Amino acid sequence: MMDDRFMNSSFLAEDSAVEQTLRPHTLRDYVGQKAVKDSLEIYIQAALSRHDALDHILLYGPPGLGKTTLACIVASEMGQNIRVTSGPAIERPGDLASILSNLNAGDVLFIDEIHRLSRQVEEVLYPAMEDYAIDIMIGKGPTARSIRVDLPKFTLVGATTRAGQLSAPLRDRFGMLFRLEMYTPEELSRIVERSAGILGVDADAEGLLEIARRSRGTPRIANRMLKRVRDYAEVKAGGHISRDVAREALNMLDVDELGLDKVDRNVLGCMMDKFGGGPVGLDTLAATTGEDAVTIEDVYEPYLMQLGFLMRTPRGRICTPAAWAHMKKSMPAGAEAQLRMEI
Ligand code: ADP
Repeated sequence: MMDDRFMNSSFLAEDSAVEQTLRPHTLRDYVGQKAVKDSLEIYIQAALSRHDALDHILLYGPPGLGKTTLACIVASEMGQNIRVTSGPAIERPGDLASILSNLNAGDVLFIDEIHRLSRQVEEVLYPAMEDYAIDIMIGKGPTARSIRVDLPKFTLVGATTRAGQLSAPLRDRFGMLFRLEMYTPEELSRIVERSAGILGVDADAEGLLEIARRSRGTPRIANRMLKRVRDYAEVKAGGHISRDVAREALNMLDVDELGLDKVDRNVLGCMMDKFGGGPVGLDTLAATTGEDAVTIEDVYEPYLMQLGFLMRTPRGRICTPAAWAHMKKSMPAGAEAQLRMEI
């Protein structure tokens, strides 16, 4: 019944059409992330009144928290167009040079997964970000020379799940760095309420809050859950989403009351049963659970850490007493001593 990737906050093909319709278009409609919004509002106002392009922005945080949405909002608040691409899609320096030279003054260039740009491509970005210019090599061998071509002033918005993986020279060229935080259940409730309105879903406040509580702090998951719960409600409950209907639907999807799914429970269970709660290295954990190490690190761990179930130590990941309690397993005395030693 359950699609294994259902709770994965990464983008799925099924999201594309609906995400477009559910994306807020103004800062005012963008729920939460108050600190980020407040700063952006000021910088956007200032740039608009100077008739200048906005400084380059780096957004980082786990998938599904609204980085792409925010980039689109920045462009529309600036009254400019956005060009969307991603690190893995730009294979050669020439690809990036051609994207850059086709930009118009003021355009926003959004590069998702910017940490995946190759070194050579990254080098094209440096002068583009700093001096609004690119260096193009003409000829080959001893007669080769580079000529500098000016670009219009544009704004680069980069998004990454891992700021730590960005090279220092690239990171330093961003004027603004914003970390997106996971959303509170109340914020997610407002997001699904808005989505329910757009999709014409009949739900009461408690039903929406139940969905919000189980969405791992992530709007993409909340919206996806809303659609699944709506299907359940249509078949089983005359189309109305109440708290009980939301609970039944989500239990059926194997999502527990804290939003943990099979994979989270598998990760925690493995750590507890096979490694006495840890510390366990990421690669060992990936090998024993059969999950991909990058997915564990980018998608599962941030929420388990946010819940205070998992801690990172120099020797690996370790489960906290709260995690043992949630998994209804008794924490061995040795594990408690281990935890005290590690922190
Ligand atoms: P990311 O680029 O970080 O992976 P997206 O910007 O694609 O995430 O957001 C995923 C979905 O979640 C979008 O369809 C959008 O509707 C919704 N969303 C994200 N952040 C917000 C927010 N702050 N307010 C309302 N909806 C949001």
